[in-house]
Amino acid sequence: MAEEINIRNISVKCGHCNTYQTLCGFARRDDWNVYTYECENGICDANMTRTLIEVPAHLDVFARRDPEWRGGRKHAGAEE
Ligand SMILES: [Zn+2]
Repeated sequence: MAEEINIRNISVKCGHCNTYQTLCGFARRDDWNVYTYECENGICDANMTRTLIEVPAHLDVFARRDPEWRGGRKHAGAEE
């Protein structure tokens, strides 16, 4: 009965420039963890193509593992 979501297992691809977006932000909203993805290729205006992915906090193993994480820097290229 393990129902979990690890945001790192999800890839976010931009429908405009057809490249993968980069995780660049994290916030909590009530019982949701909100991850922000943006294009960082200079093709798209990030303000127009930004993606917000909301994960129920109780299913979010990524945030649970790194409760103090606030940005993409720590995980930018890190492998476990
Ligand atoms: Zn794009």
